[in-house]
Amino acid sequence: MTTIPKDTNAAPVTGSLEAASNIAVVGGGIGGLVAAYWLAKAGARVTVYEASDQLGGLGTFFQYRNVSLERFYHCMLPSDRHLLGVLRELDLEDHIYWKETSFGFMRDGRLYGLNTPLELLRFSPLSFVDRIRVGLTGVWGSICSSDGLDNVTCVEWLSRLSGRRAFETFWKPMLQAKFGDRYHEVPALWFWTRFNREKGGGKRECKGYIRGGYRRIIDTLAQSIEAHGGTIKLQAPVEKLDLTADDRLVVKTAHDNPQEFDRVVVTAPIGFLRKAMEGGQLTQVAEKIDSGIDMQGVVNAVFMLRRGFTKHYWVAAIDDEIPFQGIVESTTLLEKADTGGVHLIYLMNYVHRTDPRFHQSDAEILEAYMSGLKRLFPDLQDDDVIDRFVFRAPFVEPLYTTGFQQRKPPTVLLPGKIYLATTTQVYPEVTSWNGAVGLVRKAVDELLLAK
Ligand SMILES: Cc1cc2nc3c(=O)[nH]c(=O)nc-3n(C[C@H](O)[C@H](O)[C@H](O)COP(=O)(O)OP(=O)(O)OC[C@H]3O[C@@H](n4cnc5c(N)ncnc54)[C@H](O)[C@@H]3O)c2cc1C
Repeated sequence: MTTIPKDTNAAPVTGSLEAASNIAVVGGGIGGLVAAYWLAKAGARVTVYEASDQLGGLGTFFQYRNVSLERFYHCMLPSDRHLLGVLRELDLEDHIYWKETSFGFMRDGRLYGLNTPLELLRFSPLSFVDRIRVGLTGVWGSICSSDGLDNVTCVEWLSRLSGRRAFETFWKPMLQAKFGDRYHEVPALWFWTRFNREKGGGKRECKGYIRGGYRRIIDTLAQSIEAHGGTIKLQAPVEKLDLTADDRLVVKTAHDNPQEFDRVVVTAPIGFLRKAMEGGQLTQVAEKIDSGIDMQGVVNAVFMLRRGFTKHYWVAAIDDEIPFQGIVESTTLLEKADTGGVHLIYLMNYVHRTDPRFHQSDAEILEAYMSGLKRLFPDLQDDDVIDRFVFRAPFVEPLYTTGFQQRKPPTVLLPGKIYLATTTQVYPEVTSWNGAVGLVRKAVDELLLAK
């Protein structure tokens, strides 16, 4: 176990609202829950609308044996100051544990560690000159200015710095591991931010997890919201947002009667919002949201195994014969008490929700993933697998294109009324719980300022 200096100095939210202030929060992921928690603490009457039957959004969980497991692998980084600040506020900080973790790269059936300059120098799929160029690209990426990088693709930027051959062998698999077949459009600014987040400025990679799983954070937030008088509605997808003649906001779900509010904070993926505002008093406001913004989805499987296979937290494994882009071996970070005693690996494939691979049956996906795993680890036997599950999410990561900074939706959509803190606005930061909390902080500060 590692003790690391934590940077949790995000200043607490200050400001208060008149108790009569009635606020709707759309989305019950980490963003929505933190927004509701801060606003309820500031004195507002808050109602959270969550479309699904469970809180947590992409950070949601499922019960396995006596533990709660993540549907999608999750961990924190020491640099997650917004998130760690909230966890301190909630008295959860002492339940976080940290470990040094590592990254591996699988190529042609061989596993390479890629965490130190020496490991890079030994990375034989690249020529010696290309290894040096990749190393220098990493150094340059962590010290160069980000100016202009929003207007250049990662493909152009990284190929220029490392050479085309090294791009194809080394950088492309990393991009594919996050964006699947849409990797070629992503601006260099996204990669630049990643260089600077993951390695924490050149220090050894270290990741954190919370005892009891992310569910502990979700449950604590939900209890806190309710303790401050807030209401949480599950299976309440917001379908319509409008303004009354006397300037009150109306929120309508599929099942409930319309309800009036003074303000709305939207944290759900933005796709639904334009449609929800069109055809009423907010039609023109809806036009401020770029209709061309789309999102990548993910098909992710969790395998419960009798034994582990690598010592790395994350292994990039790009191979035409393998139906996933990487392996996250969570057990390299999680304590046994948090895994129900099994070895946990996650296999992920980032694909668009319209892609046929998103709609394959669970059985087809599991069979294909199992064959892929056997190809990577030929000694894997069927009875090494205790259980396996598939989870899909249609809206995970915005499909970034050059110039995305200019296309991001604004935090204040309608002053004094509608505030946005959605995944599409995290850019150029990496989408994460920390990014979501940082956005919510901005939206809540703006809302309190305008009261
Ligand atoms: C495979 C995978 C691995 C990840 N790993 C990590 C990690 O290691 N560390 C990390 O920090 N982050 C990780 N993330 C990213 C992280 O989960 C997200 O960035 C974060 O959860 C986003 O939170 P959010 O509240 O902004 O949005 P979401 O989690 O997307 O929550 C939005 C909520 O809004 C609801 N909603 C949608 N439409 C409506 C509507 N019309 N009305 C009401 N509700 C609606 C949704 O059901 C959802 O619950 C990972 C994500 C994935 C998919």
